[in-house]
Amino acid sequence: DNKSQRPKRILLKLSGEALMGEMDFGLDPEILKQTASQIVEQQQLGTEVALVIGGGNIFRGEGLVKGGINKVSADQMGMLATVMNALAMQDALHKQGVSCRVMTAMSIDSLGESFSADKARRYLSNGEIVIFAAGTGNPCFTTDSAASLRAIEIEADLLLKATKVDGVYNADPKKDPAAVRYDTLNFDDAIDQRLAVMDMTAMVLCRENNMPMRVFNMFDAGALAAIMDGQQIGTLVEV
Ligand code: UDP
Repeated sequence: DNKSQRPKRILLKLSGEALMGEMDFGLDPEILKQTASQIVEQQQLGTEVALVIGGGNIFRGEGLVKGGINKVSADQMGMLATVMNALAMQDALHKQGVSCRVMTAMSIDSLGESFSADKARRYLSNGEIVIFAAGTGNPCFTTDSAASLRAIEIEADLLLKATKVDGVYNADPKKDPAAVRYDTLNFDDAIDQRLAVMDMTAMVLCRENNMPMRVFNMFDAGALAAIMDGQQIGTLVEV
């Protein structure tokens, strides 16, 4: 049974919002630290860990467009926000003594190297944590799509999406007390029912490339460790 096997290589997607904690903007240092230690724990157990971090705690394209900025510039600003978050996470990981690289999809030579799937796989094989910054490098995408794409490119065994909710529900659990959480789902149903798993592009990419994804709440202490140990936490979305 593949599911009960410990994944060898994971891509963990953290939203920018998740890193802001209870604040309205920016980064919560305590959350950064806790998140980093959960990641390092898995890395030290032998799992290869790659990260994609969002930028919603700083800028989202959508919000900037509402403020009058043109779409392409707004999305570029959003991608730059993800670079800031990547640097913060790299710092938090370095403080715990692990080696961690930032690879960016928009070239900013002094901050991180340009993305290369081949190099990323090599770094991961050598036990380094790799953070993929600047999303896909293209406007009109999101970091969810970047996470799907990078997971496929590095041949991850599992894509993990850490959110503020503990899985995928048939309705918004904040608005509907009768909302039910799915333990498992397939991509077709998630796409047809437009369930709030990830954006459509991200789900279609995962479906077409047979990339399983688990949605879970990163703030459940120990959730990541439990998932890696084979516990069925959150919602698993598969082909
Ligand atoms: N973005 C983009 N292309 C990408 C990834 C992100 O243009 O490949 C921009 C987009 O404007 C997005 C912003 O960067 O709103 C921040 O990313 P996202 O909203 O995915 O962050 P999260 O919601 O995960 O914090």
